[in-house]
Amino acid sequence: MFQIYNSMTRKKEIFKPVEENKVSIYTCGPTVYSNAHVGNFSSFLMADLLVRYLKFKGYQVKWVMNITDVGHLTDDNELTDSGEDKMEAASRRENRTVWEIARHYEDLFMKDLKTLKFMPAFKYPRATEHIEEMIEIAKALEDKGVVYETSDGIYFDISKFPEYGKLSGNTIDALQAGARVDVNEDKKSPFDFAVWKKIGGKNLNHAMKWDSPWGTGFPGWHLECSAMSRKYLGETIDFHTGGEDNKFPHHESEIAQSETANGKKFVNYWMHKSRVVVNNEKMSKSLGNFFTVSDLTEKGFSPEAIRFTFISAHYRSKLNFTEEQILESQKTIDKFNDFIQEVMKSEVSEGSTQVLSIIKSSKQQFIKGMDDDLNVSAALAALFGFIKPVRKNINSGSFNQKDKEEVIKFLKEIDSIFSVFSFEEKKGKSFSEEEKRMIENLIEQRNICRKEKNWSEADRIRDELNKMGVEVVDKK
Ligand SMILES: [Zn+2]
Repeated sequence: MFQIYNSMTRKKEIFKPVEENKVSIYTCGPTVYSNAHVGNFSSFLMADLLVRYLKFKGYQVKWVMNITDVGHLTDDNELTDSGEDKMEAASRRENRTVWEIARHYEDLFMKDLKTLKFMPAFKYPRATEHIEEMIEIAKALEDKGVVYETSDGIYFDISKFPEYGKLSGNTIDALQAGARVDVNEDKKSPFDFAVWKKIGGKNLNHAMKWDSPWGTGFPGWHLECSAMSRKYLGETIDFHTGGEDNKFPHHESEIAQSETANGKKFVNYWMHKSRVVVNNEKMSKSLGNFFTVSDLTEKGFSPEAIRFTFISAHYRSKLNFTEEQILESQKTIDKFNDFIQEVMKSEVSEGSTQVLSIIKSSKQQFIKGMDDDLNVSAALAALFGFIKPVRKNINSGSFNQKDKEEVIKFLKEIDSIFSVFSFEEKKGKSFSEEEKRMIENLIEQRNICRKEKNWSEADRIRDELNKMGVEVVDKK
C-alpha cells in the first residue's frame, strides 16, 4: 500500500484515489520570466517521481503542470503589495515584449524538461490562455460574497474563510500576531489577497491585460491554479505538488478560492518539496551558486546524474546540492550500467538457478521502500543488494536465458521510474588483421612488463591500448 506524507494533515497517509485506478496530479509550474534553476527542477522532479511511481503501480495518471506567463509582482510570495512585476522587469532588462519573454523562457523550460527526461505531462496550460476560466471563479466568489472591490482590484476577504491557514499554519490570528506588513488603506485586512487587479495607479503600464466584469486588468497569481486545476482535473484532485515556499500564501489562497467557489474539498494530498541549498547556502544569483540545467550540462555533468542527484535524496529532507554529489550520482549510475552490460553480454547456461527468486525479493524490497513516502534510498538499497547475488550466478555459470531476460526486464521496470540507466548494448570495435596483430603484440609486451613488475611501462601500454579502443581487464 502506497503511503504518502500529506502536508495538510502533517502525517503519512495511505493513498486512496478519488476515482479507482486513476490519479490526478497538479503541479505549480514555473513563472517564465527567467531561467528556471535546479532548485525549481528539484521540486518538479519530485512530481515526476510521483507520477512515474504511480504509473509503475498501474494507475492511470493525469498530470498537469501550469505555465505562469502572466506577470506578477516580484514579491508576490510576500505579504506586501509592493514590488515590481517580474515579467515587466524582464521585458525592460532584455528589451523584448512581455510576450516574447514569456514564450522564450517557456521554450527553454520545455527543453530543460526534455534534457532531464521528465515524463511528459498531460497538459502544460498557460495562464494567459485561461483568463475566462479565472473570471468564472472570481464571479463565483463574488456571488458567494467573499470578495470585495477596492480602487485597485478585487480582494478575497480571508475572514470569510475560517479555515484559512489550515495548510501553512498561517491562520488569521497567527498572521495578525506575527507578520509586519504595509497597510493598504483600501483593504479590509492587510492579509486579504488579490483575485483580480485593475489597470490604473501603479498597475498603469501593465502590458498584459484583459477585460473583466471589474474593468480591464489581470488575474491574481493564485487564481490561475484554482482555475486550471479545475478545468483539467476536476473540483477535487488527488495530489497537488509544489515547492515548500508555495505553501503560503499561494497554496493557502488557492484552497480558500477553490473550496469556496466549488463547495468541495480541493486537494486530498498535498506534497511539498523541501528547499535546496547549494554548498549550504541559499541559492541566489549574487552568491554565484545559482545553477540552471544548462550551466551544469555545460560543465560536463550528465543529465542522468543531475536527475539522479535530485530524485535519490528524499523530497522532505533539505538537500545540500554540490558538484561532488553529482559525481557520486554518476558513479552509482555507472555501477548499474556496467552491471547491465555484464548481464547483456553474459553467456547463458542450461542450469536452473535462484535468479528468479532474487528478482522477486528485490522487487518486493524496492516497492516496500517506494511505498513508504517515496523512500528512494531504501528502494536503492534493495537494488544494490540485487547486483551481488546475480553476478555470483553469472560467474558460476548458473544463469539461463530466462534469468537473463528477467533481470533486464526488472531493471527496465525500475528505470521506468528513475530514467537514468542505459540499456544499449555496447558493441565491441572491429579491427583489421594488421591492427589485431599490433594489439596482440602490445598485450604480450605488457604481460612481460607485469611479470618484471615494470608497472609504469605496463600502464603506458595499457593507455596506448585504451587509445586504440581496447579495454584491458586484468584477471587472476
Ligand atoms: Zn500554483
